[in-house]
Amino acid sequence: MKINHILSFALLFTLLFSCQSEQDSSAIEADSLVSNVSHTLVQNGVELIVLGTVQDAGSPQINCKKECCIALFDQPDESRKVVSLGLVDHDHQTRYLLEATPDMVQQLNDLQNAAAVAKSDVPDGVFLTHGHIGHYTGLMYFGKEAMNAEQVPVFAMPRMADFLMTSGPWSQLVTRENIAINRIKQDSVIQLNQQLNITPILVPHRDEYSETVGFYIVGPNKSTLFIPDIDKWTKWGEEKICEWIKRVDYAFLDATFYDAEEINNRDITEIPHPFVVESFKTFEKLSKEEKAKIYFIHFNHTNPLLLKASNAQMEVESKGFHFAEKGQRFSL
Ligand SMILES: [Zn+2]
Ligand SMILES: [Zn+2]
Ligand SMILES: [Zn+2]
Repeated sequence: MKINHILSFALLFTLLFSCQSEQDSSAIEADSLVSNVSHTLVQNGVELIVLGTVQDAGSPQINCKKECCIALFDQPDESRKVVSLGLVDHDHQTRYLLEATPDMVQQLNDLQNAAAVAKSDVPDGVFLTHGHIGHYTGLMYFGKEAMNAEQVPVFAMPRMADFLMTSGPWSQLVTRENIAINRIKQDSVIQLNQQLNITPILVPHRDEYSETVGFYIVGPNKSTLFIPDIDKWTKWGEEKICEWIKRVDYAFLDATFYDAEEINNRDITEIPHPFVVESFKTFEKLSKEEKAKIYFIHFNHTNPLLLKASNAQMEVESKGFHFAEKGQRFSL
């Protein structure tokens, strides 16, 4: 028995050692030297990182027996995470999380890895758009049963803040000071430092527990609009969203559903999200440069934009738009 242990130890050591030496030899190749340098030294300014692209319920979705999910229960796709963006200010060594999703544990680790300088996964602030499960329930991981964090700044609109402060289990995060709520106001700029600010923009959506906002993010060189959930563009104003597109450099926009086929040919006008095929119409008058700013995001498990090289992905790109993918990085 003991000899077996020693033997397996020796084997493990050999394996570890051989893996290590392989890594060492590849590390001296020019390519990896360049990428190492750019990772640790050249990064500066503000970066936006896509941490997730899927609608609240994730993918696979609970109890889905359809083709979109069935294989994913046995073989999960690591890129299928609930919608979230990260901001890294390399100059100030700070990180901010937009949305606290059920996938937040992995997403905060991804954000920390992207920042390179941070010692812990805890971000310098969390911004919430609204009170639907995909957008705030990750806050639970800051609580007593998980990391028992100390006063993580959470930026929330007034109704959202009241909801968190008055309904359990969220109120416990507040009373135990795991989170510190910062009330934000629509159209009111939150200056995070001299080169990065965020402004909440009120949008129409199913507002049972909170109002719903999108965020306008301004970095030292570029700006972004993030609206993961919204009712039809016509309800907010097609002119309004087109004006926003002209104003920003990137726009991550609600694309929960692609077309009628996805919802068994029910009437898409009845479902309160802008279908991608409807967005094509809303944005058809925009110039080529403006269309290229749009990244569709917040995909329902049924949305073909989640499928690599699907007709939907090709249609979006051929019309001059883009779709968000986990891991994409943008310099702001
Ligand atoms: Zn959502
Ligand atoms: Zn499904
Ligand atoms: Zn929602």
